[in-house]
Amino acid sequence: YKAVIAGVPVVLVDPRNTSRQCAECGHIDKRNRPTRDDFLCLRCGHAGPADHNAARNIARRAAVMQPNAA
Ligand SMILES: [Zn+2]
Repeated sequence: YKAVIAGVPVVLVDPRNTSRQCAECGHIDKRNRPTRDDFLCLRCGHAGPADHNAARNIARRAAVMQPNAA
């Protein structure tokens, strides 16, 4: 999905909560971030690099949110 990430208009995506939302189950909690670099979901246990997790959230939102600009 790296190609997908590179191709989406990231500037149109609201970045709020992407750094604290689980890319697997969608759970949002600031405690999902034990450190600045790590992500660990308190609900489903998904773990990995925080940047990677946030990128997946952004990519999914971009896929759902079609650009409004004509
Ligand atoms: Zn989760």
